[in-house]
Amino acid sequence: MLDLCKCAFRNENIEYIGILPIESCKIINQSLYDRTCAWAKSVILFLVPYYTEDKPERNISLYAVPRDYHSYMASLSDRIVQRLQYMQPDRRFRGMADHSPIAETSAAAMAGLGIIGDNYRLINEKYGSYVFIGEIFTDMVCTEVPKEISFCYHCGACRNACPSPDSCLSALTQQKGELEENTAALMKNYHTAWGCDICQTVCPYNNDIEKTPIDFFWQDRIFELTPEILDGMSDEELKTRAFGWRKRKTIERNIKLLTE
Ligand code: SF4
Ligand code: SF4
Repeated sequence: MLDLCKCAFRNENIEYIGILPIESCKIINQSLYDRTCAWAKSVILFLVPYYTEDKPERNISLYAVPRDYHSYMASLSDRIVQRLQYMQPDRRFRGMADHSPIAETSAAAMAGLGIIGDNYRLINEKYGSYVFIGEIFTDMVCTEVPKEISFCYHCGACRNACPSPDSCLSALTQQKGELEENTAALMKNYHTAWGCDICQTVCPYNNDIEKTPIDFFWQDRIFELTPEILDGMSDEELKTRAFGWRKRKTIERNIKLLTE
């Protein structure tokens, strides 16, 4: 079954693919699972690396530098499902992008795609933690034995560097309305208009990682959100960015804060 999956991913620049029997996975959203893939016997997991480079002026999360990854994940998933369906017409396949019913980090680790860091990220040997995890559920039966989960070496760098352990700064930057004084101070101090990558940038596993071979993540990159860049972006263009779902007003507020 793994060979079949690898064949479906050919020419997509996706190198890390694994399969797990569904009973090995932890269901974290039972109603979503019941509605979408209760018939599944296995799940195909794959990694999409997104890191291209970093720049000192960057003020948004690395995942938000290219256009919105959801569009890439959805179209990739559609292509793979179509190919699998063509090869196995009597079987069922369903891709899930960004709203998984299973605990995907531990599933990806059990599928042999990486280890789990104290920063709760999956860490891949080649692309570090800058990877998205994709899933395709199927009623094909897999015989792969889940791997024992391995963890990072607990150096403590992510914990020590975290600026906001009680309430993740990444989520705080995405809040609507007026920002609390403490949040505004954190955003200024850590120079972020969207997200936070600190627990990833300090992780030694992310040193000397490979850059993504996937074209999508190299196109139309924005490292620094400025008033000029936002003003030059139409509402339609804004919708193509990972931060676009929070609408212009929130992004405007965050940029203004950094430029005051
Ligand atoms: S993203 Fe930032 S604030 Fe959130 S846990 Fe990591 S370092 Fe802490
Ligand atoms: S920074 Fe250290 S403790 Fe944190 S995930 Fe990386 S290796 Fe683990």
